[in-house]
Amino acid sequence: MRILVVEDEENLAESLRQGLSAEGHRVEVAHDGHRGLQLALTGGPYDAVLLDLMLPGPGGAEICARMRAEGDATPVLMLTARDGEYDEAEGLDAGADDYLTKPFSFVVLGARLRALARRAAAPGPASTSAVLRAGDLFLDRHDRRCRRGGRDIELTARELGVLACLMERPGRAVAKQQILDEVWDSPHGIDPNIVEVYISSLRRKIDAPFGRRSILTVHGTGYRMAPDGG
Ligand code: CA
Repeated sequence: MRILVVEDEENLAESLRQGLSAEGHRVEVAHDGHRGLQLALTGGPYDAVLLDLMLPGPGGAEICARMRAEGDATPVLMLTARDGEYDEAEGLDAGADDYLTKPFSFVVLGARLRALARRAAAPGPASTSAVLRAGDLFLDRHDRRCRRGGRDIELTARELGVLACLMERPGRAVAKQQILDEVWDSPHGIDPNIVEVYISSLRRKIDAPFGRRSILTVHGTGYRMAPDGG
C-alpha cells in the first residue's frame, strides 16, 4: 500500500515510517498540516492516509474535510491524543473512516489499515441482501421495516430509500446528488439540498430517541453511515 502519514511528533512519524515500510508499504511523511494538505490533495493516489488531528497549520479534520470536498474517497485513519480534548467525532464528521487513540500498537494499526483497505476494495453498494445492518439498526428493504434495539421505527418510503442508500455503503461518504439520483424517481431539476430534510427526519427517528449518531455529516459532500450504527 502507498500510505501518507501526516504527524508532527517527529519520533512517532519516524517510527510509523519505519514500521510501515518494514511491512512492505511505501510511506510518505509530512510533519505539518500545510505539507500534509498539499500531499493529500496532489501527492496521491494513496491507498490510505494517516492524519494526526492536532497539527501545526490545518489539522487532520480540516485536511480530511478538504479531501472529501474534492471528492477524494481515500481511506483516512485519524490519530487522536488521549487527552480527550478533541473528540474523535470531529474527525469522523470530517469524513475520516476510522480513528486510533495514541499511543497505539503496530498490531492494532496494521489491523485497522487492513480493514480500511478491505472496505475500500468492496464494490459500491456493499450489500445486495434485503436486510441492511449497522450495529443494532436493521433495515429490511423487502418488508420495508426498520428496527433498532428491538423497536420498530416507522419510516416513509422516501426516508427508507435515503437510509438504504447510506446503509448500502457503510462508512463511505455519499453525495446528496447521488442520494437524490437513487431515491427520487425524477430527480432532474430538484435541489439536492432537499435531501437534508429527510436526513433531519431520519435522525429524529433512528438516532435521537436512542441517543445515537448513525448518520454523520461529511462537510462539503453529503452523509456517511457510521458502520457500527453510531
Ligand atoms: Ca500532533
